[in-house]
This record gives sequence, C-alpha cells and structure tokens, in this order.
Amino acid sequence: MGLRIDIAAVTANWRALAARAPGARCAAVVKADAYGLGAARVAPALYAAGARDFFVALAAEGRALRPHLPEDARINVLSGHMPGEDLTGLVPVLNSPEQFFRDRALRPGKPFAIQLDSGMNRLGMEAPEWAAIRAEALAAGPDFIMSHLACADEPEHPANPAQLAAFRDMTQGCEGVPLSLAATGGILLGPDYHFDLVRPGIGLYGGLPFAEARPTVRLSLRVIQTRSVAQGEMVGYGASYIADRPCRIATVDAGYADGVLRSLSGKGAMLYAGDIGCPIVGRVSMDLITVDVTALENVPETLDLICAHQPIDRLADLAGTIGYEILTALRQRYARSWS
Ligand SMILES: *Cc1c(COP(=O)(O)O)cnc(C)c1O
Repeated sequence: MGLRIDIAAVTANWRALAARAPGARCAAVVKADAYGLGAARVAPALYAAGARDFFVALAAEGRALRPHLPEDARINVLSGHMPGEDLTGLVPVLNSPEQFFRDRALRPGKPFAIQLDSGMNRLGMEAPEWAAIRAEALAAGPDFIMSHLACADEPEHPANPAQLAAFRDMTQGCEGVPLSLAATGGILLGPDYHFDLVRPGIGLYGGLPFAEARPTVRLSLRVIQTRSVAQGEMVGYGASYIADRPCRIATVDAGYADGVLRSLSGKGAMLYAGDIGCPIVGRVSMDLITVDVTALENVPETLDLICAHQPIDRLADLAGTIGYEILTALRQRYARSWS
C-alpha cells in the first residue's frame, strides 16, 4: 500500500550505469529528494554500493543530506555559491565568475567545482568568462570541471557532438583536473562523453532514456468506496464522464494534491493484480480518482497507478510529460516504504 520504493533496484541501476562507463567514477544525482524517492534512504544505499559523489540542486538539500552520509562522501551543489548560503561540508559547483570570487573570498581553501556552459545556456561560465578566471581557478585546485548536455536523450541530435567539442575546447590544458559531462543520456552516448565522472539521475530511478533500468517505484492506492452507476449517470467534477453502460466505479485515495497529474483525467488505467487494467474515468480531483472496475469480479482493496505494467514513462506519455515529472510530483502524503 502507498508508495513502495525498491532500493535494491536503485542500486542495481547505479551499478548497471557505472558499468556502461567503466573508465569514469559514477556519481549519483539525488536532487529533489532523490527524484521523489527519498534522498535520506537512497543516498546511503548508493554509498554502500560504492558511490562517493552526490549531486543536489540546492545547498539546503545538501545540508539536509549531510548527516545521512559518511564524511568521505562529497555532496556537490549544482546551484553553486548563492549569497548568504551556508556551504559547510558541501562542494559548490561555481557557475559564474561572480560565484567564483564570492566563494574564494568566503571559503578560501575549501573544495569547489566549476561548471562551464558548452551551449545549453542555462548554467555555467561561457568561454570568455572562463578564459578570464581560468588561471586563478585552476591554481585554486577545483575538484572537477563539468558541463551539461541539452539533448543527450536524442543520440542523433547535432547538439551532442557540438557540446562535446565545446567542452573539450574549454577544458584543453586542464590536465589533472577531473572532467564531467554526462548524465544518464550522456552515459548512453558512449565513451567519448564519459570523461572522469558521470552524473546519472533518472536512470537510477528507472526512467528513460535508460530503457534497461529496473523499475524502482510501485504506487498502490486504496479503494475507499465503490458504487454501481447506471447508463446515463455522470462520474466526478464537471460531469466529464457519462456512463455509456451500467458500470461499477471505485474511488481511490489520492489525487492531484498527491502529484497524480490532473491531465490524467479520463486517461490511463489503474492496474489490478498486476495486469488487469481498470480505466480512470472522469476528472482526477484533489484527493480522489474514480476508476471503472466493472471488469473485476471482486472489489479490490488497492489498485496500482505505477507498477511494472504501467511504468512512469507510460504514465508520462498519457499525461503529456516526462518520467522525471511523474516521479518528482509524488508528494509527501503517501505512506512511503523502502525495501
Ligand atoms: C539533473 C542533472 C543531472 C542528472 O540528469 P539525468 O538526466 O536525470 O540523469 C546531471 N547533471 C546536471 C547538471 C543536472 O542538472
């Protein structure tokens, strides 16, 4: 019942991705509470599996995670050094000359990393900015230099080789400093993209583009009530569903306030006993979903929204989004269990 998280599947996915990049150290991206799975549970398990490098988006996430990991685990903060931030025990990934000078003034001698912009225009120093501070930055001894790919989930996209060339160009002559370019998609692009440190996120949690990933999450919702609905009667808000035949409707105990996207209204199914699909009918409401269970002989105690037969990327297709959003939308109201 609730949200069941298969920690062994996460560590197996980490090992499988690490094996795809044998020449590199394999980090683990655990931002957004490990994509909704619970960083305080996931990160220590990945540490036990051998991961020593972790990435979060915000310093606050890093501070929350720090007590859950041994001292030799490095927690890198992708947003870098923001004004007034406490970075004790963390490694900021510095994204601009401004962040670099702030960090060196306030944390002299403390570990830091550098992010370069190889073309995505989101975070990181552009070539002229990097050229201006490069000598000083290299003298200060960065832990690593990284950049990020915009289109790694599309192997044939010309932005991939273009960003690779730009990253090589900007890091020429940085011998001895570990380099990092690949997230999940970049690992799958092959060895040219691996450099010294790879940074998988979604692949650890069972999402595309790592098609061979083991699923890590099962979401089972409880049936609160069932009823018989006659032909012509409505179900749910806005009367968006009108029964075209007599049917049996079950109401389950989660909704868009729990991260079940409202765009799943009237789409997709909930699964019974692993593989009998019961269509979602009517609108997803804040705390409830209505499901047509006419096909079932008995009223089930629970129905699965996410399971082996309806993985996160299938739900994402139905909702018009990506697996990343399906996972990170899952809210705290679920009873979570880890095995
Ligand atoms: C989120 C993120 C990752 C992980 O990406 P996935 O596609 O989830 O593997 C790696 N690096 C950076 C900079 C990120 O923002």
